[in-house]
Amino acid sequence: MHYNSPQPTPAGALVFTTVLTRGPLSRVEIGELTGLSSATVTKATRPFLDNGYLVEEPAEDPSGRGRPRSPLAIRADREFFLGVKVTAAELIAVVTDLRAGVRATTRRPLPECTPEAVVPAIATLVEELLTEPGRRARVRTLGVAVSGDIDRATGVVRSSPFLGWTQVDLAAQLHAATGLSVLVENDVKALTAAERWFGSGLGASSFALVTLGTGVGCGLVVNGALVAGAHGVAGELGHVPVVPDGPRCPCGRTGCVEAVAAERAIVARASEVAGTPLTLAEAVAKARSGNEPLREVFAQAGHAIGLGLAALANLVGPERIVVSGEGLAAYDLIGENLRQTFTAHAFGAASRCTLELRPLSFEDWARGAAVVGIEALLSPT
Ligand SMILES: [Zn+2]
Repeated sequence: MHYNSPQPTPAGALVFTTVLTRGPLSRVEIGELTGLSSATVTKATRPFLDNGYLVEEPAEDPSGRGRPRSPLAIRADREFFLGVKVTAAELIAVVTDLRAGVRATTRRPLPECTPEAVVPAIATLVEELLTEPGRRARVRTLGVAVSGDIDRATGVVRSSPFLGWTQVDLAAQLHAATGLSVLVENDVKALTAAERWFGSGLGASSFALVTLGTGVGCGLVVNGALVAGAHGVAGELGHVPVVPDGPRCPCGRTGCVEAVAAERAIVARASEVAGTPLTLAEAVAKARSGNEPLREVFAQAGHAIGLGLAALANLVGPERIVVSGEGLAAYDLIGENLRQTFTAHAFGAASRCTLELRPLSFEDWARGAAVVGIEALLSPT
């Protein structure tokens, strides 16, 4: 690749991240925000300016007196990043710029989700996205978001129950198929990375992202860093037990949040209550039209999630919890119980944690995968 990377030092990564998330900023402002001396800021920004990742904006001097300031800004189109979200039924891909702005997006249904089918399908999507003039020369990283237990360092999917994958060396296979540098990350962690720099997590030193859908996922940021835990399983909110002797969870235990509040759990319980098989959409429609037993199924899901969120707030004390995901489509049916239970069980100051609920598209997940590539650009050498 005819490409010069800035190869940042730790100070360089800090300075660049500060401009990336809060810029444009003058060198003085960067110094104030990072606590670095002006000499260190000047030295740290140099490789980014030399390689075109930062640009100096025209000097401004609002007072008309003194030395004009030249704010530093990100050159968003200096490098583009590919991100792909793999679901069991579909691939969703995006191209983002350096500020995680989505420049293009495409989707492709998956007739089957074996690695043998998914790898060539991703390679085709990548080709499609790189045909835009001028793009290929500015892309070198492909981020891939997959649910399950991922070895980020080797790019191996250790286990993905939703895809039925075990020990798949996805990064190596995709590198061979595309020639790109490939990073594979757990989908919720990828989304959390995007929220931390470019979304609701911005400015919060501690926050959590909780996703509701096929499963219940959780990404945790404490003191600005994504928490992985000693065994890579930190933040398994979906498997916090909340109902004694409750329903069986796909993980093999009983009474987990996911056993009550994941989509398949809601569908199973709703079908049982209705005495006939229902899809999620049918259960939602009937509950919205006033079917009390079905409304109760959704209320119980909201209660279980509220208990899980209260446990999270009491343990970690985040400033903010963002609840998102496909499951939020039924928010009108679960939201009230979710909030009530959270408020009732969050201890003391933990209840000051802001609960933010907002929908999320599959493109957002793919964008998260692209942000994993942006992060990697800044890994200090
Ligand atoms: Zn479980």
